[in-house]
Amino acid sequence: MLLLALAALTAQASPVTAPPPTLRADPFYAKHVAVAGLPILSSAKVPDTALIAAQSIVAEMLEHRPDIARTMQAMGVRVAVMAQDESTTDLPEQRGWTRPARDDPRLTRCERKHYDARIGRLTDRQYWNWRARGMGGVFTSAAAEDLLGQRTSRYYGETTFVHEFAHTIHHALRHAGDPLAGRIEQAYRAALAAGRWRGEYAMTTADEYWAVGTQLWFNSKRLVVVDGRRILSHQGLAAYDPALYAVLGTVYGDRHRLSADPFYLSPARIPAGPPPVSTAEVC
Ligand SMILES: [Zn+2]
Repeated sequence: MLLLALAALTAQASPVTAPPPTLRADPFYAKHVAVAGLPILSSAKVPDTALIAAQSIVAEMLEHRPDIARTMQAMGVRVAVMAQDESTTDLPEQRGWTRPARDDPRLTRCERKHYDARIGRLTDRQYWNWRARGMGGVFTSAAAEDLLGQRTSRYYGETTFVHEFAHTIHHALRHAGDPLAGRIEQAYRAALAAGRWRGEYAMTTADEYWAVGTQLWFNSKRLVVVDGRRILSHQGLAAYDPALYAVLGTVYGDRHRLSADPFYLSPARIPAGPPPVSTAEVC
């Protein structure tokens, strides 16, 4: 059954073309590939290799769960890839984005603490262009330099598209009413109660917990150190947070490597210099 699912996904992969008219894509978009029934779009500036990398990562993240791919099709999920010199608010779907308010639950601990200095003084456009090189959701965005693992990537050392597409999967689980969404929430609450991931981005929300866990599952997350304990691989994740590991396995099966991921087991995941005692953001 898994082989059949794989074949179905591969068969739906396509070469780079202009967006088909049926998509009614904004004229900003000049390139298109499809995967698992989902469109991936970009302007003419994005190299084909970045679209193909995104296509491969999406196919492999969904290969164990064709039902999630079908939910995403029904939700109208699309992926857009930005060129290095394009920004979050250049994408037509995100042109009107405004910066988050002071009480937005998505703010990190440090953003909330320093709201006036870090966010309050920025325009909407400045905020989003500083904040994100990709976001998950029904409209998922990605950045070419991130997909290609280029030195110019703001998040060099990890592939943030894996994180963002994990958010999209989480949205689809909720949309489908999959009990797994509740299990993610449960694992998150248990981790909070146990003091795991203290101060880490993973503890911002259940969503970030799932997305960071996904990066570790696929061995392409920058080093996490909590109270001197290093977590850098799927084995490290299994030992540190077995509940999170178990729910990740129900979505990703036994795959721990995404073929197109430039930071899979990369030494760039480990920062230079003496090993940190903690990777929590200091603010
Ligand atoms: Zn996230």
